Amino acid sequence: MSARSESDSDSAASPAKTTLPSHLLHDLRSPLNQIIGYSEMLSEEVDGEPSESLVADLDKIRAAGHRILALIDHHFVSDTELSRAIPTDENEEVAAPDSSLLKQRPPLEPGHLLVVDDDPSNRDVLSRRLRREGHVVEAAGSGRDALECVRNTAFDLVLLDIMMPEMDGYEVLRLMKADERLHHIPVIMISALNEEQSVVRCIEAGAEDYLTKPFNPTLLRARIGACLEKKRGRDRETLLFDQLGENYKRLQVVEELRDDMRNMIVHDLRTPLTAVILGVDMLEKHGDLNPAQREMMAIAAGGGKTLLGMVNDLLDVEKMASSSTKLQYEELSPDSLVAGAIEQVCSLAEGSDTRLVSDVTPGLPFLQGDENKLSRTLVNLIANAIKFTPSGSVTISVFMEGDDFMRFAVRDTGEGIPPEAFERIFEKFGQVGSSKKVGTGLGLAFCKLAVEAHGGRIKVESTPGVGSTFSFTIPLLARDQ
Ligand code: ADP
Repeated sequence: MSARSESDSDSAASPAKTTLPSHLLHDLRSPLNQIIGYSEMLSEEVDGEPSESLVADLDKIRAAGHRILALIDHHFVSDTELSRAIPTDENEEVAAPDSSLLKQRPPLEPGHLLVVDDDPSNRDVLSRRLRREGHVVEAAGSGRDALECVRNTAFDLVLLDIMMPEMDGYEVLRLMKADERLHHIPVIMISALNEEQSVVRCIEAGAEDYLTKPFNPTLLRARIGACLEKKRGRDRETLLFDQLGENYKRLQVVEELRDDMRNMIVHDLRTPLTAVILGVDMLEKHGDLNPAQREMMAIAAGGGKTLLGMVNDLLDVEKMASSSTKLQYEELSPDSLVAGAIEQVCSLAEGSDTRLVSDVTPGLPFLQGDENKLSRTLVNLIANAIKFTPSGSVTISVFMEGDDFMRFAVRDTGEGIPPEAFERIFEKFGQVGSSKKVGTGLGLAFCKLAVEAHGGRIKVESTPGVGSTFSFTIPLLARDQ
């Protein structure tokens, strides 16, 4: 297009410009926009048919319309609002839409659109063009009608004229954005050239984009496509978010159910299980049984006791995790703690090639702690060390760490633990994948909870094939509970 720009056409001596009131400009532009819009559509419709002269004539009408529009802008719109170039004569091309290009493009994914304009012909031109793009289009002739439409029907996009009597585009936009049921619907403002300042305001107020009249079909298509794409993306996000929320709620219900069931099982299993174990014990000891029957009874009693141990472990861990257990603090001697723990587990090492070694630093002070919890922590760690050390040694040492903490360490020369399992083994039911030894996977979870309840920390250092050291710190003084 060889267009003469405004600065080319105006000399420094040009007379002062008469600017027209915006409503008058609007009235002048409206019919011109319609002439351009209809001729554009007609020439696209007849394009390709044996009516070349008709297309050429329609193009001339459209070009003339553009020229008059530009002249109006040039002569009657203030310079600051102008940026349009003026086509010189009817032989010059006016940014004509390339209809062949329009036809080649893949069809848009259609949307449900609302066109809002008080001028029936403007509504008609825009609606028809959009329907030809494949969209489902409804139209409203006033701001009030538009609001009623969006309240009653789910639209994907609203094309909203700014200048309308009674309720203008600003007000419709403000009310839509203030309504939480409507604020997600994207709005493209439709403006005339000299309304661009107002468009900035609309975009600040939440409008998605704007289009100026007369519409450039390529731009119209691209902006509507982009807007619909964004809206679909947001819709998908909202849907996923809602689904996530739903799933989370369901998960919470399932977790509550599982917790209730576990508590129920743990509580209700203990009493009958204890009765079974007692009964089997009695039979084994006092029943009139032959040796084979006695052996079977002993196996049954052993199984029952293991099961009861598991149930108790689970109950303890649950109680500690929910902080429903208070520590029973008393003055404890580290020597007695270690000696008591070794006494409880030494039978596990009997008959094996594993030696138990106690290495408590002499002269250590007393510490304040819960004897039951700390003793069970040591027992768990030493029992594990024996279980995972087929031959070698298990050394239990105690020493001061700074002035305020005491460290207890259980070192073995057993199979070791791979570093990637260090965290997992302290979680409930966490075991090393390859571990074939019988266990619940609750022992270390209990140790961690017990140590942390005292204000200490537990850690593991290990090298597979070489051995492991589990150690924990305990502050000398009781912490506030
Ligand atoms: P359990 O021993 O009942 O399985 P724990 O919580 O006490 O449960 O231990 C979790 C896992 O940590 C064990 O199954 C084992 O895989 C690993 N583990 C614990 N202590 C040792 C150790 N001293 N040497 C090697 N592996 C260990």
